[in-house]
Amino acid sequence: MKGCIFCQIVAGEAPCDLVHEDEGTMTFMDLFPVGKGHLLVIPKAHSENLFEIPEAELEQVVRHTRRLALVLRQVFSPDGIAVHQLNGAAAGQTVFHYHMHLIPRWDGDPRAMHGRVRGDAAEMAENARLISAALAEFSD
Ligand code: AMP
Ligand code: ZN
Repeated sequence: MKGCIFCQIVAGEAPCDLVHEDEGTMTFMDLFPVGKGHLLVIPKAHSENLFEIPEAELEQVVRHTRRLALVLRQVFSPDGIAVHQLNGAAAGQTVFHYHMHLIPRWDGDPRAMHGRVRGDAAEMAENARLISAALAEFSD
């Protein structure tokens, strides 16, 4: 969809730190991470939110979300992992292409849902590489 930043990423017209891509989904680092390893899993096809996404696409996203949560736990050993997904501006949604957040959390971390500062480019690229390599080895 024109003007949608995530559709631009899917089309290769905007950059991202890619972790994984398959026929229906894409996983990449959040550009304004709340913390180390903050990922987004999206369907490639544009749906605005949970109300619109076709069930078959949602199932693919959820399957990847679980797999990535297991991989993040293995790579970063966080104390917990937050998975969240916002629907509508009133709920805090800022990019209107369905996406699932995965955020590793450590005891005492503030529970913010959005980061304020752009992530360090080298660190995000390295984390994408680490997660991607662990995912390639992963079997469930
Ligand atoms: P939400 O508020 O749930 O819609 O979250 C949108 C998320 O997308 C925020 O955490 C942003 O930091 C993130 N974001 C926005 N633009 C980009 C981008 N070009 N690449 C990666 N993440 C992005
Ligand atoms: Zn889109």
